[in-house]
Amino acid sequence: MATDEDLLIEAAKREQRNRRSGRNLLLALLMAAVCAAIGWVLVFRVRAFVKAIPFLPLGTVTSWLLVIGIAAFVIAGLIVAGALLLANPRKRWGDPAAGACPACGSWTLRQDTVVPADPGSGSLRNAPKGVVTLCDTKGCAYASATVTTASRAR
Ligand SMILES: [Zn+2]
Repeated sequence: MATDEDLLIEAAKREQRNRRSGRNLLLALLMAAVCAAIGWVLVFRVRAFVKAIPFLPLGTVTSWLLVIGIAAFVIAGLIVAGALLLANPRKRWGDPAAGACPACGSWTLRQDTVVPADPGSGSLRNAPKGVVTLCDTKGCAYASATVTTASRAR
């Protein structure tokens, strides 16, 4: 059975990989595109369609469609802005940590707080929490973890 340290290091390495590959950014941009598409359909398609139906007092409906559509556009913009800030692949994982790497001696240690998602129960209650230190040098596999919250409630 994997220890809390193993779980944390594994999750940190996964996050670091996702960030390097730009997968997080891609997923966020995809979500933004979906929101923008929903907004466009609501504002320019559904609203025009409802407006084209005669004899129906749908003024309220069309103005709500406009509001929801614009909100979808705003959400899409926020997702893009957030993704560029948080998931930018050029921004490296974690914060720089003091000290030289015990494995390769480079001053390339980076650390971050990690909370792995628990795929078993789907809840964060049983997931451990801790600070993981990874070495950013290519080919160096140094990793250490300090558990701040153990996986099982005591
Ligand atoms: Zn190293």
